[in-house]
Amino acid sequence: MTRPLPYGRQVIDDDDIAAVVAALKSDTLTTGPAVTAFEAALGRVAAAPQAVVCSSGTAALHLAALALDLGPGDAVVVPSLTFLATANAARYVGAEVVFADVDPATGLMGPQHLEEALTRCGGLRPRAVFPVHLNGQCVHMAALAETARQHGLAIVEDSCHALGSWQELSGGWQPTGACGASDMAVFSFHPVKTVAMGEGGAITTRDARLAARLRSLRSHGMERDPTRFIQAGEAFDSDGCPNPWYYEMAAPGFNYRASDISCALGASQLGKLDRFVARRAELVAAYDAALAPLAPRVTPVHRVGHCQPAWHIQVALIDFAAGDVSRAQLMRALAQREIFTQVHYLPVHRQPYYRQRYPDVNLPGADAYYDRCLTLPLFVGMTGDEVGRVVEAVGEILG
Ligand SMILES: *Cc1c(COP(=O)(O)O)cnc(C)c1O
Repeated sequence: MTRPLPYGRQVIDDDDIAAVVAALKSDTLTTGPAVTAFEAALGRVAAAPQAVVCSSGTAALHLAALALDLGPGDAVVVPSLTFLATANAARYVGAEVVFADVDPATGLMGPQHLEEALTRCGGLRPRAVFPVHLNGQCVHMAALAETARQHGLAIVEDSCHALGSWQELSGGWQPTGACGASDMAVFSFHPVKTVAMGEGGAITTRDARLAARLRSLRSHGMERDPTRFIQAGEAFDSDGCPNPWYYEMAAPGFNYRASDISCALGASQLGKLDRFVARRAELVAAYDAALAPLAPRVTPVHRVGHCQPAWHIQVALIDFAAGDVSRAQLMRALAQREIFTQVHYLPVHRQPYYRQRYPDVNLPGADAYYDRCLTLPLFVGMTGDEVGRVVEAVGEILG
């Protein structure tokens, strides 16, 4: 019996459902203990002293850009091979995106791509770089950070693909989110990611000042800590005690909070991260073995040495130019067999909005990766036989 195979999907167990029901029956549906519990659990998993949960990975990127005070006249370097949101976050705050190229074999940006992008900033102030850990493999952060620091750039790791991936840094191996070579790391808990909240995201950091700003910005810019109040006359009673109703806002923020309901799901799922990552690794190893006979026409993405990846998606690089079956034809023929694939991603500099804003950007590495990539089904509930079914179908259709 065969079933439809999506390129990714969540697993929700009975204990996840029970955790959500418990949150629903509790006294607080938002800004309650499930939020703080999830933040504490994420901080432990990511080895980060500060974890700030919010409503999506996109909101997390926006908050990171706000907390760094990025704005008009600033340049943010973003690899073109990523999801829209990484670049859009810079635009939300009025900063300009300078797209960087990536390695065509991994889709990852390196220090040489950062250096090259920095030559294209024109009259803008280069302020930050948002490296992306594509597919679960990590950018070589030790090398990238060295270059970024030489140019005085802040670093925000887009880790939406890489919860559970470990990185080799100068101080040894660290989980993604520990921020050993960055200012902040951003996560998504969209159902297609390794851990699901429905919608949800988070930022981790070692910097308590940044964390305080992120917490304030995710909730309207409200400040409730009396030690940070600016308007003493409004804030304090004649006896010097803070007025019990008082909060203040120095700059407008957003409502980017995550509810206790979704945080309960996130915490329950996070407890299974090791199992999820291990199962994904088994399935990726099964793909590697099954795809080997199709080489060199079909190859896995090149593996980097400085990372123990938690695979987010299973990408095959296929030399479509070498045969007479196009990527669209392969995808359609696979879909007829109920095997659903996707392309991650059209390089973002080729989206109409960015083409119009930044014409004449030419990134051959991103284009070459895009030309060959195809995301095959990978999810924790998948079986080894289903990996075989996918690879057999790919081989047959390509001929
Ligand atoms: C999913 C994703 C995002 C956005 O996360 P949402 O939770 O969907 O808003 C940002 N960057 C990358 C690389 C992603 O994969």
